[in-house]
Amino acid sequence: MVVARPFGKLSAEAVRKEAARLEALEDLDLLDSPRDPGFDRIVRLIKEIFSVEIGIVSFIDAHRQWYKACSRMPDDELPRGDTFCRYVLETENQLVVQDTLLDERFCRHPAVTNPPHIRFYAGFPLRTDEGHIVGTICAIDSKPRSFGRRDTRVLEELAGAVMDRVSLAKLAATDGLTGLSTRRTFREEAHRLIAQAGRHRHEISCLMLDIDHFKKINDQHGHAAGDEVLKSVASVCRNHLRVGDLFGRLGGEEFAIVLPHVGREGALETAEKLRQAVASSEVVLNAVTLAVTASFGVTAASIVAKDIDTLLAQADAAMYQAKEAGRDRCEVWGKRTGEGEDTASRRRVLKSGRILMNDRRSTIDCTIRSLGPDGASIAVSEASLIPARFRLSIEAAGLETECRVVSRNKHVLEISFV
Ligand code: GH3
Ligand code: MG
Ligand code: MG
Repeated sequence: MVVARPFGKLSAEAVRKEAARLEALEDLDLLDSPRDPGFDRIVRLIKEIFSVEIGIVSFIDAHRQWYKACSRMPDDELPRGDTFCRYVLETENQLVVQDTLLDERFCRHPAVTNPPHIRFYAGFPLRTDEGHIVGTICAIDSKPRSFGRRDTRVLEELAGAVMDRVSLAKLAATDGLTGLSTRRTFREEAHRLIAQAGRHRHEISCLMLDIDHFKKINDQHGHAAGDEVLKSVASVCRNHLRVGDLFGRLGGEEFAIVLPHVGREGALETAEKLRQAVASSEVVLNAVTLAVTASFGVTAASIVAKDIDTLLAQADAAMYQAKEAGRDRCEVWGKRTGEGEDTASRRRVLKSGRILMNDRRSTIDCTIRSLGPDGASIAVSEASLIPARFRLSIEAAGLETECRVVSRNKHVLEISFV
């Protein structure tokens, strides 16, 4: 459930603090990153040690709590405003509720009165070395439970283990499942390739692809089948690329490719070739044949788009347009929005924003994912609730502007400033 809340101005101190927190989170570069068995293990430990039904390791951006690892929760994320973990974030302290029905703050909470009927909650903040709270680790059960000082110490140690794992994950160069570059390595390598292209004045381009309806594959055939599909898509694409092309796994079912010596047209041809190869490939699992398609976004380096974060933001926006246009297709940045390739650019950012509606009487929190002079890509908990036109306030950037929705996905809105 997403609730629009009354519009109230945040204090300058709160805005500054949240901006610094989001910067720390961006620096970790792990939002929407692929599943990691190390975090899954920590979740299993939470369940075993505390004998609880649900364990969660989550990170919290401007509008949502995203589960890095969890057991028995139906979704991958929840709106931040509704969660128990919000208290941990805001108080920067642990929260233990031994019986939610006996606690005024939580007894009417929708997660208490409805499934998963939370009766017990213990959460501990995930703190960076610089002291920013980036997420939470928690133990949850549908029965009340006592939780003593020793339990809290154990949860604190597990929070430490999570942050150790976060630091370690930074060092991994390849993704365990697909063998492709991790997001961080991809960005570092891409940075080098783009600089080289600039020096030698040759073209360079970037593609993003995201598997269509991947959640359905997981839901209908299980996670192991989903993993096989990921491996298959990665290897089909790799086989159609050149040795010098850079290929990385950015998120769960989201990949990116950098093509040195290839411009916009060539990149579109390559994307089309990969799209057809994925669509005609088959993954056979337990005598079931799974059909897979993917949507592609294409962009090329230009005078204004000459760093990997810009190229990724543009390819991502184009990819969302491909999704909206019906999936299993390729879209080029700037084509449908009418923006000239050399005039509009985007940067990947992580900023908190507020969507102002009904003459500023209500607001909905959002996370700004990329920002340019004439548009942005923003993530919300439920895109269908957002009207076609609204005002957007990005307090940390001192910006408030009228916006028009260009396209929308379940969680992502592509907007242009009017
Ligand atoms: P769309 O066509 O709009 O892209 O829909 P979708 O279902 O592909 O997109 P959505 O983002 O809703 O779902 C992505 C799913 O990918 C959700 C998540 O549980 C799953 N996922 C993420 N990482 C992994 C992984 O490593 N393995 C498996 N099997 N699933 C994963
Ligand atoms: Mg997808
Ligand atoms: Mg995706």
